[in-house]
Amino acid sequence: MSESLSTAPHGGELVNLVVSEDRAAELRDLSLNLESVVLTDPQLSDLELLANGAYSPLRGFMSKMDCDQVLDTMRLSDGLLWPIPICLDVDEETARRVSVGQTVALRDAEGFMPAVMHVEDVWPVDRTAYAQAVFGTSDVAHPGVDRLFHRMGSHIIGGPVEVLSLPLRFGFRHLRHTPEEIRTLFKKLGWRSVVGFHTEKVLHRPEFEQTLRSMAHARANLLLHPVIGRIRPGDMDTYTRVRCYMEVCDQYPPSSMTTLSLLPYTMRYAGPREALLHAIIRKNYGCTHFMVAPCHASPEARNSNGAYYDPDAAFSLVATHSGELNLSVLQYEDLVYVEEDGAYVNRSQANGRKILSMTEDTFKKRLLEGKKTPTWFTFPEVAREMERSYPPKSIQGFTLFCTGLSGAGKSTIARIVCARLQEIGGRPVTLLDGDIVRKNLSSELGFSKEHRDINVRRIGYVAGEITKNRGIAICAPIAPYGTTRRHIRRSIESHGGFVEVFVATPLSVCEKRDPKGLYSKARSGLIQGFTGVDDPYEEPEHPEVILDTTAMTPEEAAQEVLLYLERTGYIR
Ligand code: ADP
Repeated sequence: MSESLSTAPHGGELVNLVVSEDRAAELRDLSLNLESVVLTDPQLSDLELLANGAYSPLRGFMSKMDCDQVLDTMRLSDGLLWPIPICLDVDEETARRVSVGQTVALRDAEGFMPAVMHVEDVWPVDRTAYAQAVFGTSDVAHPGVDRLFHRMGSHIIGGPVEVLSLPLRFGFRHLRHTPEEIRTLFKKLGWRSVVGFHTEKVLHRPEFEQTLRSMAHARANLLLHPVIGRIRPGDMDTYTRVRCYMEVCDQYPPSSMTTLSLLPYTMRYAGPREALLHAIIRKNYGCTHFMVAPCHASPEARNSNGAYYDPDAAFSLVATHSGELNLSVLQYEDLVYVEEDGAYVNRSQANGRKILSMTEDTFKKRLLEGKKTPTWFTFPEVAREMERSYPPKSIQGFTLFCTGLSGAGKSTIARIVCARLQEIGGRPVTLLDGDIVRKNLSSELGFSKEHRDINVRRIGYVAGEITKNRGIAICAPIAPYGTTRRHIRRSIESHGGFVEVFVATPLSVCEKRDPKGLYSKARSGLIQGFTGVDDPYEEPEHPEVILDTTAMTPEEAAQEVLLYLERTGYIR
C-alpha cells in the first residue's frame, strides 16, 4: 500500500473514538447522573464522522480556541488545516444547564446515548462572524446562513467525546463503511490509487463520464462516495437516490473498478471551504485523488450579484492545499454530448456540431409529465428507478389545502371536490374536515390561538403522510397564519403535490352567511380571538387557486378547482 493510502491527511493515524466494552458499561452506569444534550440528525452525523475517524484528527466537538482559529485562519489551534468548525450548538436553556468540566450524555431523539462529551467550553455563537468566515456572506437567502441564523442554537459546547456505539443506521447497511473498513477493502483489492467522488445528487451520464475520465487520467480506481445526511425539502428521497447509485455502479466496466459507500454527512453549502473539508474526509477514507466540481458545495440560491462563489474557487482552494494534504485534486472536464458522435467529448472538440444538454430540473419536469428520458442523459436503469419514485402527476399523491375565513365556503367546496375525485377514482381520497379532525385527531384541543394552530399543523402532517402514500388529502381549515401554511407546504411538496385554494370570500359576505352563527357570537363577545373579527387572517401569497364565492354557486367553485387539477395534470 502506498504511503498516502495509509495515513490521515495530516500524516497521523486515523482517530477512533469508540471506547472498549468495559468503558462503555462504566459510562452507561454514570449516565443516570449526567445532564443530557439531545442531538439533531446533522449533529448525529457529525458525531458518527468524529467517532469513526472520518474527521481525523478531531477528537471531539471543537473547543472555542479551535473554532475561532478555524474561522479566522482555516487551521486548528495546533496549526493543522481545517476549514469548517465541527461544533455542537445548543439552545440557551441547555447552555445554562451545562458547565465547563462537566461530562454530558449526548443522546438521540429517542433517548439512546451514543456518546458522552467532557465539556471544555460553553460560549455564545457570534452568528455574523461565523457566517462571514464560513460562507463569505451573512445573507439569509443562502441556505447555510439561513440555518445558522434561524435554526442553529444560540450557544456552542465543545470538548472531547467518548463514543459508546455509533448512531443506529438501518437503511443500506452493506453500503456504510468506516474509513478503516474502506482502507482495508482497498488494500484487499490491491487498489493503490483511488479517486474520491463526492456527490449529493443523482448521477447521470455526464457525471459518469467525468468519473471515467478522472479514473483514466489518474490511473486509479473509484470510490463513489455520495453524502446521505439530512436532505432539503424538495430534494429526492435518499432511498431512491441510493438505488440509482447502485444502478450506476453496475455500469462501470468491469464492476470491480468501483466501490460505492454512503457518507452520513450533512451538506453546509459553504462552497470552497466545504470542498476542502470534503477533500480531507476523502483523504481519511484512503483516497489518493479527489474530484472537485465547478461550484462544488455551492447553494442553488443566488444573491443579487449572482452565485455566492466563483465556479472555480473551490478547485483553487483545494489545489492550493493539496500538497499539504498529500491528495491530488482533479478538475472536471467541460464535457458535452455530441449527437453525431453519440458520445461525450470535451467542448473544445465539438467543432460546432450539434450538442445536446439537459438540466436536472428539466429532467425532473419531464418525469412528472410522464415523458421518457433519453439514454444520452441518463442510464435507462436510473430512469426506471426515478420513474418508480417520481411518477407523473396523475399518479402522484397531492394535498388540496383550502384556506379562508369561516363561512367562506371551504368545507362545501371540499365536499363537492371530494365526491368528484371519488367518482373519477384511481386514488384514495381523504377529507380532513374540521369536525372529523377535531373528533379523531385533536379531541383534547380547544379553540385558543395556540390550539387552533396545533390543529392545523396536525392536519398538515396527516395530509403529508397521505400524499406520500400517493393518496389525495383534502383539507379545509381556516389556517389563518402564513408561517404555518408555508411550513405545511414545504413539508408536503417533498412528497407530492400541494395545491393551495384560497377561498377569498370577503368578510362581509361570510358574516352575512354566518352558517354556524359564529360571527354573531364573536361580535357579541361570546367567542374571543375569532378570525376576521378580533384575530387576523393573513392572506396567502401565492395560492394555486383563488375563489371568491360571493357570486358563484358551490358547484361552480368546485369546478374551478377541478379545472385547475386537470390543467396541471393531477387528474386526467
Ligand atoms: P367554511 O368551511 O369556509 O367555514 P362552509 O362551507 O362551512 O364554510 O360554509 C359556507 C356557506 O356558504 C355554506 O352555507 C354554503 O352553502 C354557502 N355558499 C354559498 N355560495 C357558496 C359557494 N360558491 N361556495 C361555497 N359555499 C357557498
